[in-house]
Amino acid sequence: RVNSQRLPSYLKTSIPTGDSFKQIKKDLRGLGLSTVCEEARCPNIGECWGGGSGKEGAKEKATATIMLMGDTCTRACRFCSVKTSRTPGAVDPHEPENTAEAIKRWGLGYIVLTSVDRDDMADGGSRHIEETIRKIKSKAPNTLVEALVPDFSGKMEDVERVATSGLDVFAHNVETVERTTPSVRDRRAHYRQSLSVLRRAKEVKPTLVTKTSIMLGCGEEDAEIEQTLRDLREHDVDVVTLGQYMRPTKRHMAVTSYVTPDRFEHWKKVAEDMGFLYVASGPLVRSSYRAGEFFIENVLK
Ligand code: SF4
Ligand code: SF4
Repeated sequence: RVNSQRLPSYLKTSIPTGDSFKQIKKDLRGLGLSTVCEEARCPNIGECWGGGSGKEGAKEKATATIMLMGDTCTRACRFCSVKTSRTPGAVDPHEPENTAEAIKRWGLGYIVLTSVDRDDMADGGSRHIEETIRKIKSKAPNTLVEALVPDFSGKMEDVERVATSGLDVFAHNVETVERTTPSVRDRRAHYRQSLSVLRRAKEVKPTLVTKTSIMLGCGEEDAEIEQTLRDLREHDVDVVTLGQYMRPTKRHMAVTSYVTPDRFEHWKKVAEDMGFLYVASGPLVRSSYRAGEFFIENVLK
């Protein structure tokens, strides 16, 4: 590990400029969709939107992430740059329809729907997510849908509602190992609760692919990373991604360490040996990193 607050060179990326990237950007403007990829200035945008640029079928493998239910979260995780409020505005009732229509016109192969946590809503927003997925699947049946969802405060009927809505991948992030959870995630998030959410989704719909992400560099020990991977397999989680935590601003939790690319490679091997369906592990990997390509190449093969 490199213990430094200075950014290692492998974490610096250039802004993509390729033709296919420019075309997608232009398409998006016309559709009125806003993506996390752009808003979070994600460094992987060239790779994700390119879907393996230049190769045949690149658009079918291209991945983009869309945020539902507004830009304000009821929680305040210490690593996250999303705004917080106890009373975010009402959700837009037209969002499911408009999102599905835009995705249909966009024609992308793989969409990740993500959302803020809405502890202010009685169903945690699960009906809104469900409706969006159903509409996407009816208008664009060939688009694969991954939903990265909240823990719904452990309310299993909300988990079941989303899990049985027709989506392909059910994702919920544990974010960090058990010991560091209270200092990394909002106090309402619990490591064991997140594991139960993932297990319940699989139980209620066994053909679902379940997925989670872990950020490294938050003070975790190697043995704890290994234990987390074991816990995930014990809860039937199929896919894991591991990436470096990067501090969004000085007001957020500090980075404890920068994990080298070699160590990420090591964790990829450890996880693969435990039997995960696929593993993405690298300093710049984010939960939706090249998700379309990985899904098509490993699950639909
Ligand atoms: Fe978008 Fe996620 Fe890929 Fe980043 S990693 S470009 S947010 S799909
Ligand atoms: Fe950010 Fe999600 Fe935590 Fe909300 S629940 S603060 S969106 S990481």
